[in-house]
Amino acid sequence: MAVVTKEIVLAELKRFAAPDGRGNIVGQGIVADVIVAGSRVTVVMNASPAHLKTMNQLQKVVEDAVLEIAGVEKAVVVLTAEKTGQSAPQAQPQPRSSRALAVDGITYLLAVASGKGGVGKSTTAINLALGLQAIGCRVAVLDADVYGPSMPRLFGLTGKPEAADMAGKKMKPMTRFGLEVASIGFLVEEETAMIWRGPMVMSAITQLIREVQWQPADVMVIDLPPGTGDAQLTLAQQTALSGAVIVSTPQDLALIDARKAITMFNKVNVPVLGLVENMSYFTCTKCGERHDIFGHGGARAEAERRGIPFLGAVPLDIEVRERSDSGEPITVGRPDSDHAEIYRKIAAQVWDSLQKGTGLAAAPAISFE
Ligand code: ADP
Repeated sequence: MAVVTKEIVLAELKRFAAPDGRGNIVGQGIVADVIVAGSRVTVVMNASPAHLKTMNQLQKVVEDAVLEIAGVEKAVVVLTAEKTGQSAPQAQPQPRSSRALAVDGITYLLAVASGKGGVGKSTTAINLALGLQAIGCRVAVLDADVYGPSMPRLFGLTGKPEAADMAGKKMKPMTRFGLEVASIGFLVEEETAMIWRGPMVMSAITQLIREVQWQPADVMVIDLPPGTGDAQLTLAQQTALSGAVIVSTPQDLALIDARKAITMFNKVNVPVLGLVENMSYFTCTKCGERHDIFGHGGARAEAERRGIPFLGAVPLDIEVRERSDSGEPITVGRPDSDHAEIYRKIAAQVWDSLQKGTGLAAAPAISFE
């Protein structure tokens, strides 16, 4: 079979005019990167907000053209808001329909996000997924936290996904607890993804969305990378998200980060369905006394200030951590526990807002720094 190289792909891409009509997409720097992995090609293109419509059309045309190159079996074109050598990307509100990434057969894509790492975003994501399942939803989980994929550990899964077809073009999601899950953690070594820049993160996630043979589901819970950098912004902008849940710990610092996450989703018109306060308080197992280790109620107050639903407070509990580490999240491991009940309640509110299409998207974007 013909060997595909970056040069061959670039030569093909030069045939396409830049959206402003001046020069071609390679010469004008629209093509940010070409990643060739055997017969698989990923093209990353910068989409300036001014030419978004043209770029969306171009995306499909370029994808088809790359597929025509001898030796190419799979082609994915990813649009990113990142512009190298220029100021930080500015997300532009855009109609939801122009978002490229949706999953056939999955009704709602729900992001679980946090302004910083370590606040329990992944723990919340999996327990929310299980909570949604407990109230009767069909649920899939996409671990988009490529910098620190936790889902293999939380699901207690190891090994690689199987190919879904003879050609090996699609892979089967892994399954456990009746949930389908895909994670970059099943595919690459942890250190590999740590050094990825924005466009590579997006292309990895695009592959997880498009190249996994997802079964129909009501909700796909997407565990986003923590923070509000380029990768997160592009993801929020490119994926047809129905809403986002923000996870924060009560202390001020984490809340400031949570505000940034809320602002990011506002900018790209993704409804913020609510705030979850994690590690909210600690009840001493010996004396039964409640300790507000990080202060308490900050997230609720912040949610109220912003007019965002406060979805619930999840206490700090050693069992949550132990069960997460042993691959049996508390919602499934101890369905009769208070924690499981909290997660089911959060899930019920989220499901309600998803169906109603409510959230904070219509609120004015507040900027602060
Ligand atoms: P993130 O995804 O925000 O980085 P994780 O969900 O991986 O955070 O959580 C970080 C650590 O905190 C994990 O060891 C997890 O088990 C633990 N953890 C999360 N929530 C709780 C909680 N409510 N009580 C106790 N430990 C928790």
